Amino acid sequence: MHRRFPNLTVLDHPLIQHKLSILRSRLTKTKKFRELVDEISMLMAYEVTKDLPTEPVEVVTPLESTTGVHIKGKKLALVPILRAGLGMVDGILKLIPSARIGHIGLYRDHETLEPVSYYLKIPPTDHERDFFLLDPMLATGGSASAAAAQLKRQGAAYISLLSLVAAPPGVQRMLDDHPDVRVFVAGLDRGLNDSGYILPGLGDAGDRLFGTK
Ligand code: URA
Repeated sequence: MHRRFPNLTVLDHPLIQHKLSILRSRLTKTKKFRELVDEISMLMAYEVTKDLPTEPVEVVTPLESTTGVHIKGKKLALVPILRAGLGMVDGILKLIPSARIGHIGLYRDHETLEPVSYYLKIPPTDHERDFFLLDPMLATGGSASAAAAQLKRQGAAYISLLSLVAAPPGVQRMLDDHPDVRVFVAGLDRGLNDSGYILPGLGDAGDRLFGTK
């Protein structure tokens, strides 16, 4: 747990930090950027799932029977926030190939500056299913908070947010609006500039992932 934000875990594994530093560089081009988002997301998922509940299962090896474990409960659901969250899906699926996938689309209204939902399709919710909300950049927290509220309205009970980089206002917003949602990040940065970009950050994650700028 983080000393300033009880909802936050910064995943400081050396491999994650090494890859995050390459990701941040302005010299890192689209292909490499995608590969790094994929790898970091996979490593983050490995850490985030370390406390998943398990249950015993009987296994028959070629030699004898033994007791192993299975992960308990319903299949996990990954819910990328469009569009940049999509970049985190494949890496996590490499570790959890049977995860279900939902999608949340939000845009920011130019006048009210509030997030407006334009797409929502998620797997069935019930108390046994964990939801991993995916958004590489937790900046002001407006979209992540709105997305978590949407998941809750649909009945999701266990929600975690996975972001590559966060700024303090975004983490605080999640703590205020959704103290029950755990936030996992690879980096907690200094702040936001006037346009809402994270500093030092990595720029626009969507543009860098999809090569749109
Ligand atoms: N979204 C991004 O893609 N980058 C930021 O720095 C903030 C929000």
